[in-house]
Amino acid sequence: MSIPIVNLARRAFFRGRATDQASPLRPPWALVEHDFVALCTGCGDCVTACPTEIIDMAAPRRPPTMNFSHGECTFCGQCATACRPGALVRNSDDAPWPYKASAGESCLARQQVECRSCGDFCPEGALRFPPRAGGPALPVLLEERCTGCGACQAPCPTGAIRIL
Ligand code: SF4
Ligand code: SF4
Ligand code: SF4
Repeated sequence: MSIPIVNLARRAFFRGRATDQASPLRPPWALVEHDFVALCTGCGDCVTACPTEIIDMAAPRRPPTMNFSHGECTFCGQCATACRPGALVRNSDDAPWPYKASAGESCLARQQVECRSCGDFCPEGALRFPPRAGGPALPVLLEERCTGCGACQAPCPTGAIRIL
């Protein structure tokens, strides 16, 4: 199914604050939030293990969150391997997380400026730009392809991309 990435973002925006507060972006293969925060000791071993340095500790000894501002998840699994308390549990059958990309109103194409930076950096080919009458093509997310890896976030010149 193809979903206009900007429309997806708008829907997410209206429910987004509650969603964000209820469920911070945790590292891949995190247990459900209640169990994750119960088991996570805030040891930081997943932060050290991550080769792309995208796991942040919001505060010392607090459960980590994801930060895609300078990198993406390669799903290497090193964070889960490093997690001794078992807050991150990698099973081969489990998807690492349900996250998907979305874009907000600051997307340049929404402002009549040609831009395909997000699509250029997507390793999955999940962003398409169908021709549009009257303006530059808008990014459209192929939801079934998007892994939520975050590679499209940092290249966006206006910071329009979020992973939700
Ligand atoms: S799977 Fe690998 S790249 Fe992704 S957060 Fe864990 S350690 Fe980092
Ligand atoms: S390695 Fe596990 S217990 Fe330690 S901070 Fe990361 S998620 Fe929490
Ligand atoms: S999150 Fe990853 S897979 Fe999804 S659109 Fe962005 S770069 Fe592509």
